[in-house]
Amino acid sequence: MTSMSTDHLYQLVNRSKRNTENVIKTAPLGICITDPHGLFEMVNPAYCQFYGYQEEELIGQHFTLVVPEAYRPHMRQLHDDFIQGDETHELRQEWEVRCKNGETRTIIAEAARIEGDDGVSRKVTFIVDITQRKQLEERLKQANERLEYLAHHDELTGLLNRRQGLTKLEEALERCRRYGNQLSIVLFDLDDFKGINDTYGHSTGDSVLQELTQVVNQQLRETDFQVRLGGEEFLVIMPEVDADSAYTAMERIRQKVEQTPYTEHELTVTLSAGIACYIEASSTRMLDRADKAMYQAKQAGRNQIVIASSSV
Ligand code: GH3
Ligand code: MG
Ligand code: MG
Repeated sequence: MTSMSTDHLYQLVNRSKRNTENVIKTAPLGICITDPHGLFEMVNPAYCQFYGYQEEELIGQHFTLVVPEAYRPHMRQLHDDFIQGDETHELRQEWEVRCKNGETRTIIAEAARIEGDDGVSRKVTFIVDITQRKQLEERLKQANERLEYLAHHDELTGLLNRRQGLTKLEEALERCRRYGNQLSIVLFDLDDFKGINDTYGHSTGDSVLQELTQVVNQQLRETDFQVRLGGEEFLVIMPEVDADSAYTAMERIRQKVEQTPYTEHELTVTLSAGIACYIEASSTRMLDRADKAMYQAKQAGRNQIVIASSSV
């Protein structure tokens, strides 16, 4: 076995040290070492670049400099626990951090405990920037929520759309069948609405629909559902309400709608409505009866409400 000279050994150790230093310097991920008090002892160029600080601005500072103020006490505590704990690895964790320019970014940090040449524990932290991925995820989540919303709602008025409205009606009918509850529905359609579009334009017509939806909603009970069936035709589902009470409620709405001025043109809008109460289990039949009653209201001169006869 050849014995290595002390000089040669010294050279090898030095080279190994330089290699390690170079690896840390050129590493594409941010690396820092903090002392037991949480002060930066080493930061590599990727770490400085990510946060927008010079190395000398960080060394000696508490690491919570790069953490939003609200999280600082918690992060301090975690650091203390980690330095004192027995485990050598912390779980990978996602954090929100703050760069020098005030920008908030998201990182994944993984930490390990190392022992310094003075025998004291230090924390070495590796950080990976996941801000873009996080933003993409957030956008995707919002897009999905929007799709989910649009699957059930009408975009213009925010009301339940036809499909969801009919589902709600089926559910209400099911409760009638099971528990013998009452139920009324109101079908209403705006009078001479085409005239508003023709005179003031489609976007004014849209604004009228939005404002009118609010007016009607304010008059309804919490348990009622307003549905936009399509165009300027709406359905109100009134669970546990008989035809006479539905008539009283709808008459109040009719008057309120008529008295409200719409858009900057202060337009007057009226509606005609048909009411049908629960007498049989078919939603189609019930809608049909309400539709016929509404037609009668139109025929009789509009701006009025008709209760469907139960024998239709
Ligand atoms: P009636 O009293 O018989 O109901 O007369 P009307 O003019 O209200 O009825 P009609 O069915 O002839 O026309 C309804 C009009 O509603 C047609 C269309 O221009 C308008 N309309 C339907 N949907 C929308 C919409 O989303 N926005 C706007 N601005 N207008 C709509
Ligand atoms: Mg109409
Ligand atoms: Mg119509």
